[in-house]
Amino acid sequence: QGHDVITTCSIGISLYPGDADSAESLLRNADIAMYSAKESGRDSIRIYSPGMSSAISERMKLETSLRRALERDELELYFQPQVDLASGKMIGAEALLRWHCKEHGLVSPSQFIPIAEETGLIIPIGEWVLNEACKKMKHCIDQGYQLSKISINVSGIQITRGNIANTVDQALQLHRLSPANIELEVTESSLMHQLEIAIQIMEKLNKLGVSLAIDDFGTGYSSLSYLKKLPIHKLKIDRSFVSGIPHDPDDATIAKSIIALAKSLQKKVIAEGIETDEQRQFMISEGCHEGQGYLLAYPMN
Ligand code: C2E
Ligand code: MG
Ligand code: MG
Repeated sequence: QGHDVITTCSIGISLYPGDADSAESLLRNADIAMYSAKESGRDSIRIYSPGMSSAISERMKLETSLRRALERDELELYFQPQVDLASGKMIGAEALLRWHCKEHGLVSPSQFIPIAEETGLIIPIGEWVLNEACKKMKHCIDQGYQLSKISINVSGIQITRGNIANTVDQALQLHRLSPANIELEVTESSLMHQLEIAIQIMEKLNKLGVSLAIDDFGTGYSSLSYLKKLPIHKLKIDRSFVSGIPHDPDDATIAKSIIALAKSLQKKVIAEGIETDEQRQFMISEGCHEGQGYLLAYPMN
């Protein structure tokens, strides 16, 4: 379509017989060297050395296990209630992914989501998350629970590379849910690489009736101009600002400013990581009425 596509190449080298004496280990070591080339900024060549091994081979083992996680049924969703801070009433819940790996035990999402993103595994895993969250939501509604909305984390890669609008549409139909029952959370930094495409897809999601929130707000890209452009409904104040309240005046000022910004842009706002009653009170008095955090409820299965 008239666009230039620029590719780069990362090469890892291992030599027989110094580095290994079987084809299998030679290839594994070459792979390790290739990962090291990618980690040092891509577009380069690395020759295998035994020192490279430990961190990278740990990561490769995780990757191999992650490739099997879906078929082995090792993934599970936990749910953390989101509440109205004044009354404590639950207004929704965020779905948080858990991986019970046979080889590595319970692995944190902050460890395996980046690997899933790099390898493209985030697409099938993300589809599983969407479907599972809808299934559980439907179950709650059928059981008569007062749960109006589930927030689902999606990676920027699912938005720009996958077919997320279709996936969401199909999941909603399959589980007979209304688009108003789900909200998607995306981090700001994950959208910035391909802003124009992201906006198009997010508008498609909007047309479906699904609302969108910016997760970890304030930690990523610092440009405010995209805030005007992105079709989003809610800002989530990042935990790192909440944790300093009330002792850190900078954190308090940043949280206040985010609340004011959300108000003036006519967006909703929610605070994550509320751990103390002071933080809860602070948010209420500053006009942020929704929150989530260990004080209110832990993520639960
Ligand atoms: P997030 O979306 O910002 O989720 C909030 C994280 O803060 C969760 O960590 C949650 O357990 C934790 N948390 C909640 N309340 C508190 C609190 O009061 N104090 C503290 N210290 N922490 C609290 P978790 O479950 O480990 O998830 C980490 C990140 O992994 C998430 O951050 C999200 O970015 C990502 N993630 C989780 N599930 C998925 C998923 O299904 N898809 C994608 N793409 N990413 C996911
Ligand atoms: Mg989130
Ligand atoms: Mg967050």
